[in-house]
Amino acid sequence: MFLKERYESDELKVLKVLKTRLDLPEKENQYYLNLQKGFEGEVMFDGYLHQVGIQTIVLNDLLLEWSHSHFQIDSIMILQQLIKLFEVKNFEGEYYFDGDKLKKLNGTEIKNPLLQLERNVSLLRQLLNSIGIKIPIEPYLIFVNPDFTLYQAPLDSRIILPTNLNRFIEKINKRISALNQYHVRLSEKLLASHITKSPYSKVPHYDYSQLRKGVFCQTCGTGIAEYHSLILTCPKCGKPVNTKSALLRSIEEYQTLFPSEKLSTNTIYEWSGELISKRTIGQTLKENLIVSGYGQWSYYE
Ligand SMILES: [Zn+2]
Repeated sequence: MFLKERYESDELKVLKVLKTRLDLPEKENQYYLNLQKGFEGEVMFDGYLHQVGIQTIVLNDLLLEWSHSHFQIDSIMILQQLIKLFEVKNFEGEYYFDGDKLKKLNGTEIKNPLLQLERNVSLLRQLLNSIGIKIPIEPYLIFVNPDFTLYQAPLDSRIILPTNLNRFIEKINKRISALNQYHVRLSEKLLASHITKSPYSKVPHYDYSQLRKGVFCQTCGTGIAEYHSLILTCPKCGKPVNTKSALLRSIEEYQTLFPSEKLSTNTIYEWSGELISKRTIGQTLKENLIVSGYGQWSYYE
């Protein structure tokens, strides 16, 4: 059972919107691509975890803290007798272990994920001990991408290669696991310890005036200039975009970047490049305000 699903982090959402509306510096752009790739890998791994049929509780994407150290856990699976802790890597290409160093085939050294895994286990163990929970933790480093090759793979039971993933899940399914209130409490305690605001955020500073206004193609990111009644067309890839969904996306993007700003017809009119009539914008804001009630869209005029 998935008790905590995985969503794109706020950081990833913000960077994704920023990417179409300003020229991200190379470093930030690379950071964004890594985040996106990592997220896709974790989603891929979730697909495997969904094939587990025995009683388990899965908590995804936990950000925890122990003695002033933050640690991020991709997935935790609670079983009857133990916790499985997963660190998921969506690496692609050819790698090898050189002693305790992980390197690309061209010799570039990568931060060894096994060390990160060890750190996570140690911090999680201490955190659990502090709340009176003693349960074995089994750590795994999951390489999820089918285009990942690891030469000289150490015979390390913690490393799961893409070609082992199905077998790995089958093995879990052969276990006997009956969960009770103890496990529910354990998961609740972990959820309560989860920190929602990441201290790692590397989102660059941005302000409204520097951002490109308009509606952007979902496929290629090009700004859309023409407006023919219900259909907008991307000038580059020719993909038609439904006006209504483009408008809704525009509003969401605005809220992603400026969560505390109030929404108004004029704001969104300008934000979406003056492409869509104020009447349509006003109607859309009104409809969605009624639908979503309090909270989500705080204001329109
Ligand atoms: Zn396009």
